[in-house]
Amino acid sequence: MSASPYTGGCQCGAVRFRAERLGRPSICHCRMCQKATGGFYGPYVTGHNVEWTRGAPKHFASSNLARRGFCAECGTPLTYEYEGGGVELCIGALDNPALAAPVIQVNPADKQPFTDGLAALPTRPDGTDPEMEDVKARVVSYQHPDHDTAEWPPQR
Ligand SMILES: [Zn+2]
Ligand SMILES: [Zn+2]
Repeated sequence: MSASPYTGGCQCGAVRFRAERLGRPSICHCRMCQKATGGFYGPYVTGHNVEWTRGAPKHFASSNLARRGFCAECGTPLTYEYEGGGVELCIGALDNPALAAPVIQVNPADKQPFTDGLAALPTRPDGTDPEMEDVKARVVSYQHPDHDTAEWPPQR
C-alpha cells in the first residue's frame, strides 16, 4: 500500500490519509454538502481501504445515516461516511486532486443556479494586479505540502 499515489490530508497536516485505490469521483449538489464544505457543492471520491497515516478526523453526524469527517485542528473537511462503511474522500484534500476528475453530478435539485456559469466567468490572469502580486510575494504558507512528511509541523 505504501506505493499508493492516493494520499492526502488537511490544510494543517495534523490528519493524513492514504487510500489503496479510488472509486467514482463525483460532485454532490445537496444542501448538506454545500454546508459541510463551505463550497458550492461537495467534491467526493470513493476511497477504498482508507488508512489514517497521521492523526484521525473528528466527526459530525450530519444525519442518522451519515457523518462528516474533518480536522479538529484546522477544520478542513475530509470525508463523507455513510452507513455500511463507505468512505468518500474530499477531492480537494487529495495531494493530487487531478487523479479524481469528477465523472457525475448528483442531487441536482439543490444545485446553486450559478454553478453552471462558473467556467464562463472572466478570469484575471496571474501577474496583472500589482496589489495582489505584492501580497502574494509576502505570503509565507503554513499549509502542509502535498506529500507525506516525516515530521510536522516544522520548527518556525
Ligand atoms: Zn488540520
Ligand atoms: Zn451531498
